[in-house]
Amino acid sequence: MSERSIMRLSSVQIAELARRTTTAVLPLGSVEQHGPHLPCGTDTFAADLVAAALAERLDALLVPVGPYGVTPIHAGHPGTVSLRRTTLEALLHDVAEALVADSAMDRLVLCNWHEGNNASIDAVATELQDHHPGVVVVTAHACYTAQRIYAAEGGELTHGGGIETMAVLAHDPALVRRDLAGTPSRTDHAEAMDAMRRDREVHGYVTDVSEIDRDGWYGRPGWATDERAATFADRVGAEIAAQVTRIFALREATS
Ligand SMILES: [Zn+2]
Repeated sequence: MSERSIMRLSSVQIAELARRTTTAVLPLGSVEQHGPHLPCGTDTFAADLVAAALAERLDALLVPVGPYGVTPIHAGHPGTVSLRRTTLEALLHDVAEALVADSAMDRLVLCNWHEGNNASIDAVATELQDHHPGVVVVTAHACYTAQRIYAAEGGELTHGGGIETMAVLAHDPALVRRDLAGTPSRTDHAEAMDAMRRDREVHGYVTDVSEIDRDGWYGRPGWATDERAATFADRVGAEIAAQVTRIFALREATS
């Protein structure tokens, strides 16, 4: 666990830290089936790794929100645990409110690795900023940053594919069972469905993962290597840190 985690620090240490920095990083993931080759904690492991690297670069307090996210898309598969949107929003809201009220944090960075959380994150972030003049919230969808960074090297953000396998390798190689992945693929249909749901202009919705792929996962786990895993968290964390720093500077200039 990161030295910067609120779980490891005493109240006195957090008060000291708050005199130096008022930024907190909150990882958000999901617990859901990821095929036979990856653990159900994949998204949360990925979010935690990137958030820890990001907190290091931002000199921030790292604050876990909890492992679960909103993931009805994987309902019916053993190992999937989905929160209702209202539950995640209440949880995130209460954690953030406490950080502002009790720990003097006023720069909150939500580091997300699960697309099903997006709507809840946006709702809570805008509400927080609206209720607390002086508080700035920034959301980083680390999964999309990884998708962009690794695209040039053939990395793909698919459910249980290369990028997610790399993230689990980075967390704990013993949890990756590539021998159980069968014949990995990303069909043209899956690619078209991903493009459809991720388009920022006009997009449709996938409400069951089997609409993308019958097996519930797709992609190329073999793309992930130990070399890529070794630098994953720091590479994605550094990229996000630069963007977050720019946004904070912009908000300082306009406040
Ligand atoms: Zn995932």
